Amino acid sequence: MSPKYSLIVPIYNEEETILEMYHRVAAVMDQLDGSAELILINDGSRDCSLSLLRDLHQKDPRVCYISLARNFGHQIAVTAGLNFVRGQAVIILDADLQDPPELIPHLIEKWQQGYQVVYAQRTQRRKESWLKRLPAYLFYRLLRRLADVDIPPDTGDFCLMDRRVVDILNAMPERNRYIRGLRSWAGLQQTSIRFERDPRFAGEVKYTFRKSLSLAANGLVSFSRLPLRLSTYVGLAAAVAAILMAVLVLYWRIVSPNSPLTGFATIMIAIFFLGAVQLVSIGILGEYVGRIYEEVKGRPLYILSEMGGFTEELPIYKR
Ligand code: UDP
Ligand code: MG
Repeated sequence: MSPKYSLIVPIYNEEETILEMYHRVAAVMDQLDGSAELILINDGSRDCSLSLLRDLHQKDPRVCYISLARNFGHQIAVTAGLNFVRGQAVIILDADLQDPPELIPHLIEKWQQGYQVVYAQRTQRRKESWLKRLPAYLFYRLLRRLADVDIPPDTGDFCLMDRRVVDILNAMPERNRYIRGLRSWAGLQQTSIRFERDPRFAGEVKYTFRKSLSLAANGLVSFSRLPLRLSTYVGLAAAVAAILMAVLVLYWRIVSPNSPLTGFATIMIAIFFLGAVQLVSIGILGEYVGRIYEEVKGRPLYILSEMGGFTEELPIYKR
């Protein structure tokens, strides 16, 4: 019998938070109007997280776990979870209790009203430094301007998705998985609830600056082709500037032959400016070409090393 609700929690070195997270999530699961499973995905943790997951699975049959062969990253860990869920409504939340599990009944309420996606939108991030908040704030606004689909700002992966949406996500073959974008791309009936994001329960942030940057680049490149067009625009602008400059120089030459406009500094600035424009353009191109390369190789998204609570044979990987 498949459960009504599936909860997905990705875990990377979260030994300090797992038990508290389990207690709070289990308390919520007890109150739901149907059966629920909790799927914990170990994303190649190097601490005791995996043995904690095994223990939880032993104690509570509602808890299942999947262990990835190494650290594949948060988005891939969630994707692995989505591949294995069996519920009719699927809820994704973080292990560090920044997404309060007590909000789950409110998400479910909206689902029961007929929405297929209910995402949680942050109104405030408590106790996070402005070094994280400001870039995030700016990025979500930029993404909203550039992206082809309407990706709501200040939403993370904390959401509820109907089975239909999960099936759509699972059918998408792409490797660069910006889940909050793919979720918007699917369309159907979507709504939000607003919440204040709590501080991390314990431990360090697992999303390093580099990982956050790469997530942001994935979001932009996967959902917008505008950056590619940028070099065309800048190139055209530079061409216009060059023509104007040529006319100006000619004019100065005729009117006053000792004009300062044709000096060394002018040439250096022009060379550096054009050099910079070209290198940045190549860099932007590289972001797209690199991703095409990833897609063409067609490697599996992740490799599994262990799982508990699933009756089917352990596939080494799922595409
Ligand atoms: N996480 C993961 N793999 C990673 C990095 C993070 O599975 O490579 C998980 C982590 O355990 C947590 C969630 O993703 O459950 C969010 O990570 P974190 O709280 O560090 O990032 P935040 O979104 O709060 O900046
Ligand atoms: Mg967090």
